Amino acid sequence: MFKSSVTNLQEATAEQVQEFLNSFDTVLTDCDGVLWIDNNSIPGAADAMNFFRKIGKKIFFVTNNSTKIRTDFASKAQQLGFTATQDEILSTAYLVAHYLKGIGFTKKVYLLGSNGIAEELKAVGIRHTGVGPSDLDSEVGAVVVGFDEHVSYPKFMKAACYLASEECLFIATNTDERFPKSGSIVVPGTGTLVRAVETCSERKALVLGKPHAYVRKFLESCGLNPARTLMIGDRCNTDIELGVRCGFQTLLVLSGVTSIKELEKIRLEKKAPLPDVVLPKLGDLLSLVPPS
Ligand SMILES: [Mg+2]
Repeated sequence: MFKSSVTNLQEATAEQVQEFLNSFDTVLTDCDGVLWIDNNSIPGAADAMNFFRKIGKKIFFVTNNSTKIRTDFASKAQQLGFTATQDEILSTAYLVAHYLKGIGFTKKVYLLGSNGIAEELKAVGIRHTGVGPSDLDSEVGAVVVGFDEHVSYPKFMKAACYLASEECLFIATNTDERFPKSGSIVVPGTGTLVRAVETCSERKALVLGKPHAYVRKFLESCGLNPARTLMIGDRCNTDIELGVRCGFQTLLVLSGVTSIKELEKIRLEKKAPLPDVVLPKLGDLLSLVPPS
C-alpha cells in the first residue's frame, strides 16, 4: 500500500506522458483544492478536465463536500469553465440520501449539516429535522453529520441525546480535517465536527465519503475498470487513499491541502499512501502533452 517513490510528471519524457494518458479511460477528480478553491478556479484546471473529455475520457467529480446538491455543483463547475452534468457529480450529501434510501430508512434524520444534505434527503423522500433549532423529536432514527457552519454546543448536545439510543444510526459525510484555502487561513473541516459528536456520544460514525467503503462500493457499482481509472486529488488520506484502496492510478496535485513539504513528511512517516504521479497543479498537465 505504501509506495516508496512518486514520479514527478514534469520530469517525464513526452512518450511517458503519452503512455500515462493512454493508461486510463475514466478520470475521477476531487473538486476543492484540485479544480477550485472557494469560488475561484485553479488556473488551467478547466482546460485540463475539458481536454480529458475531448480525448474521450469518462469523467466523475467525486467530492466529500456536503454543502451543496449535485445540480449546484454542476452549475458551479459550468460557471468556472468546466463541462459537467449532474450525473457526473458524486457528493457526500447525495451519498447520505443514497445510503439511507438503500437501507429502507423510514424514520427521521437529525441533521447536523447544511442545506445540501437537507435537499438531497428531500429528493428521495426522507424526512429530517431541518438545519435550524428544534426540540427532541421521537421520530428521529438517524443523526447525520456533515459540514455545518452554524455548529453549536446545543447541536452537539442534541446529537448526543439522539445517539444515546442504540437504534439511532450515526452517519457522517466525511472526516476531512480542513478545507483547502489559499494563504494562512485554516478552515476546520467536517472531521472536526464528526470527532466532537463521536466524543460526546461515545460512538463511532459510519463515514460514507472518501476513502471509506461506501463511496468505494458506489464507484465499483458504476462499472469502472479500476486498472483503467485515474483518481486525481489534493489530499493523500482521502483522495489518494481511496484510489489506492480501489486499485486506481493516482495523481496528486499540490494546489490544495497537501503541500510538497507535507508530501515529503507523508513519504518519511508512511502516514498515508503515496500517489503514483504528482503535479504542482492539474493545469500543468496540458503543457506536457505531446502535440498530436
Ligand atoms: Mg480536495
